[in-house]
Formats: sequence, structure tokens, C-alpha cells
Amino acid sequence: MTVKPILLMLRTDSSGDIEVRAADPDAPQVSVLDFGVTRGDGVFESIGVVGGRPQALEPHLERLAKSAAMLDLPEPPLDVWRSAVLQSIELAGPDAADEELLVKLIYTRGIEGGDDTATGWVHLFSSGPYDHEREGGISVVTLDRGYRSDVATTSPWLLQGAKTLSYAVNKAALREAGRRGADDVIFISTDGIVLEGPNSTVIALIDGVYVTTPSSLGVLEGTTQAAFFADAEGRGAATEYRSITVDELRSASALWLASSGRQIAPVVSLDGEAVAQDPAFTSAAVGRLLAR
Ligand code: PLP
Repeated sequence: MTVKPILLMLRTDSSGDIEVRAADPDAPQVSVLDFGVTRGDGVFESIGVVGGRPQALEPHLERLAKSAAMLDLPEPPLDVWRSAVLQSIELAGPDAADEELLVKLIYTRGIEGGDDTATGWVHLFSSGPYDHEREGGISVVTLDRGYRSDVATTSPWLLQGAKTLSYAVNKAALREAGRRGADDVIFISTDGIVLEGPNSTVIALIDGVYVTTPSSLGVLEGTTQAAFFADAEGRGAATEYRSITVDELRSASALWLASSGRQIAPVVSLDGEAVAQDPAFTSAAVGRLLAR
């Protein structure tokens, strides 16, 4: 049974109040003059919903607000967004608890020539299945992102580390991976530091420590990686945020890509070289992430 998609449109009226209205997800809802459409000028979040519960709701809302601030968008009223997310799950009915879903939050600069109010919507739909990637793993290629690892400090207007709607580059990188016979990508900075995937966070097991790249290097703060680290720490494992060189990536004991829908997928090959696997660990970790 597939859950029917749910769409809630958020519209700010002239007094600044926000109206949340259920809308038909199969009908056009957004203006052709919306800056989100014409310029990709906006931000978004994708939140996993498992067992009818949104995962890492508060970290996602905080990240939405942080991305919006980086784009100088009006501060999103998080209480309205939070209740819209919960309402969308409620509207999906009892079947929502039996499937893995994603709820997307989209927040744009609004309509060109309009009243300077942002456009927003919440869209809930069935996601997955992810078994193939979680169990079989993914082949990954490294690609140059073309920025230094200090880009967030030197050039904040490049919006590295904001989750903007402009994902054309991320999608182009994934197509390049496909042309190279791979499933996914790990971006590398021009100075040889591991960054992130086009829609995932890198987790590397190096000398027995789970390591990921700090967000200060212009990568998105991953909510799934944070949940993985919390789980690992709770089980007595060591974790660390630090820069990772490409050589360290190539010699890591194990690698995963983490993201809200897929949770974690083990990397089975990197630039054509086999990466060591621990399927029992990955499967148990996926189970714990789904149950959180
Ligand atoms: N990095 C980028 C660029 C992403 O687009 C995503 C996923 O949205 C992530 C990392 C992983 O973040 P999360 O685990 O919160 O989904």
C-alpha cells in the first residue's frame, strides 16, 4: 500500500500571518514567477518519516532556518513549519506508519514583482525502497568540487553549507558518476580535502574512529550522520569532526554515505578500488537509525 502524497501550502498574508492550506499535489500550485522556480532562489529540507514519526525534526528545522539566514531570506516561523510537518503525516492516515516516507520543506524568496513574502510548502510522499543500497552498498567516485576547503570563510556568497534549491550541480555530479559507472559521488576540495556527497554526508572509519568533515569546511551539517555518531558514542565508540585527506579516505577501514532517506549506505568501491565491508555492522546500524 502506497501512501497518497500530501501537500500543504504555506502563504503569508498582508498582516504577516501564515495560512496553511491543504492543496492537490497533482495540480499546479506555484507561480511561474516564483524565484524558487526561476532562479532556484530558496532553501529546502528532506526529512525521513519512519513509523509515522519525522526523524531529527528539530535539527532539520534549525538547518532550514540556518540556510534561510545564509540566503538573507525572512526567518521561517519554525512553529508553523513544525506543525505543518506533523499535520502532513496526520493527513496521510494510519498507513503512514507502515512505510518509509519523505517530507520535503520548500521555502523560496517568493514571487517576482509580488508582495515580498516568501513561498513555502510541505510535501509528503512515499520514498525508497532503499534495501539495494543499504545492503548491497554503493560504488562511489571522487569528483573535484572546484572550491578550496576554506571557501565558506573566504567566499560565503557561494553558499556552501546552505541547502539551497539550486541542486542542478549536485544532479550533474551524479550523472557524471553514472557516466563513470558509479552510483554516487564524494566531492573533494581543490586542496585535497574530503567534503561530502551531492546529497549525503561522508562517514569514514579511520583507526577505529568514526570521522566526518566539519561543517566549517562548507559542507551541510548532516542530521543522519549526527544520529549515527550519537548512536556510536552511546555504544562506546569514538567519533571525530576533522578534515580528512583523500589518502585517508582511500585507506579508511570502512566508508558510508549518510542521508535522511537512505539512512546509511556502505561504500563498496571508491574510484574502482574495493572498500572493506562489515555487512552485519551496517545492517544493525541501519536498524537502529530506522528505530530512532
Ligand atoms: N550533504 C548534502 C549536500 C545533502 O544534500 C544532504 C542531504 O540532504 C546531506 C549532506 C545529508 O543530510 P541529512 O542526513 O540531514 O539528510
